[in-house]
Amino acid sequence: MSRYTGPACRLCRREGTKLFLKGTRCLTEKCGIERRPYPSGQHGQNSGRGRKMSEYAKQLREKQKVKRMYGLTESQFRNTYVKASTLPGMKGTNLLVALETRLDNIVYRMGFAASRRAARQLVCHGHVEVNGKRVDIPSYKVVPGMEVRVAPADREMVVVLASIEQASRGAPVAWLSIDTDNAAGRLMELPTRDGIPVNAQEQLIVELYSK
Ligand code: SF4
Repeated sequence: MSRYTGPACRLCRREGTKLFLKGTRCLTEKCGIERRPYPSGQHGQNSGRGRKMSEYAKQLREKQKVKRMYGLTESQFRNTYVKASTLPGMKGTNLLVALETRLDNIVYRMGFAASRRAARQLVCHGHVEVNGKRVDIPSYKVVPGMEVRVAPADREMVVVLASIEQASRGAPVAWLSIDTDNAAGRLMELPTRDGIPVNAQEQLIVELYSK
């Protein structure tokens, strides 16, 4: 299935939680789910939210939520899970670590883009370097010790400067070292589950894919 290109807020409203897909707008009163906290569409307000869900429905919604948060297609998400589940340790945590160490997510976490969508675009357009070499693959796996930076010629881009300015007001994750002056950073170590600021019950996704 191809990538979703419709309204981002619609996805948050469907999942009933903020997925932070639109950068700074998500932190303002213009946030779609703040204004209309129910699914979109004609029957959105009567969609029965709050009704008891089956186990399968809970697992499916959790998978959809995390998949949409990271902006992956179904096949990309499942492939990420399949690879992560072969590693030692908890499958759910491995899945989140694999998602967090994607290049587009690292660019987002470093604050060089306001959202994962924007980070993906920055990477695809060739504005990001890993260890000094341009990489334009959003799913590129960053491993500990690698340096990620916005290409020197692109550091003054308005979107990058605005994102850094906004991000500097928040708390960065501990497993990244960030040099905002040079729009660069390094993955210091793989994150633990506690170090991943994502509100998800990943065990439900494992249960869904284990059926
Ligand atoms: Fe989701 Fe952001 Fe839209 Fe709010 S503004 S509904 S968090 S995408």
